[in-house]
Amino acid sequence: MDISFAGKRALVTGAGKGIGRATALALARCGAKVTAVTRTQTDLHSLLQECASIIPVCVDLADWGATEAALQDVGPIDLLVNNAAFATLQPFLEVTPDKFDQSFDVNVKAVLHVSQMVGRGMRARGSGGSIVNVSSQASQRALREHAVYCASKAALDMLTKVMALELGPHQIRVNSVNPTVVMTDMGRLGWSDPEKSKTMMSRIPLGRFAEVEDVVNSILFLLSDKSSMTSGVSLPVDGGFQAC
Ligand code: NDP
Repeated sequence: MDISFAGKRALVTGAGKGIGRATALALARCGAKVTAVTRTQTDLHSLLQECASIIPVCVDLADWGATEAALQDVGPIDLLVNNAAFATLQPFLEVTPDKFDQSFDVNVKAVLHVSQMVGRGMRARGSGGSIVNVSSQASQRALREHAVYCASKAALDMLTKVMALELGPHQIRVNSVNPTVVMTDMGRLGWSDPEKSKTMMSRIPLGRFAEVEDVVNSILFLLSDKSSMTSGVSLPVDGGFQAC
């Protein structure tokens, strides 16, 4: 399936590492003009070395005011990928308010904020658009020591649905992808212990974790016109984990 984003302008958050970085590069390869947003400047430098056409924006998305200032001049965006997230492991009885706030500030509040900024422009131009929120299997299934992360991703799935409801009349589609474990920095945080990863993998019918490319391909599909009648869905990219 050939997907072209020639003439489209895309914005990807959390584009410094992992899934976001690969998504930004894939979008650029498909012809989109890509704005990459992340908070570590050295990641943006190396990203630009890989792809000189990418427009870098360095900001901590947990900071509402700084995000407003950093994104006010990005110009029209047709495709938005809300990918940045924070993950932390705490047993439920040990959950602290700072980790709760850090998680919800990035995983939910920043998605709402960036989508508002981009969505207002889409509505004003009347040319529609597509938004993909990067959620997780953790939105649908309880994972030990992931109380706050699970709750934030469940909130993100519902935010996705309400955005689809309210933005649909403006021809803006909103969906999420919900991957299983991917061995990025974040994936290693939760799953590098062989015992934990073995248990998790045994619950995945396809018998493996997802590769970054598996997630990127699903994001590209949902951004593209190949999914033009799909909005408000949470698409598992989990080898069947949620089916069991
Ligand atoms: P990584 O940790 O590899 O990359 C996350 C990126 O987001 C980094 O570039 C990071 O920058 C950036 N980021 C985080 N917080 C902020 C912030 N406050 N402001 C700006 N940028 C920020 O994560 P993954 O690629 O693994 O995860 C990407 C998405 O996929 C997330 O939404 C995650 O929840 C989801 N996901 C991941 C899974 C996995 O197993 N890896 C499984 C299911 C879903 P910096 O490094 O500078 O903090």
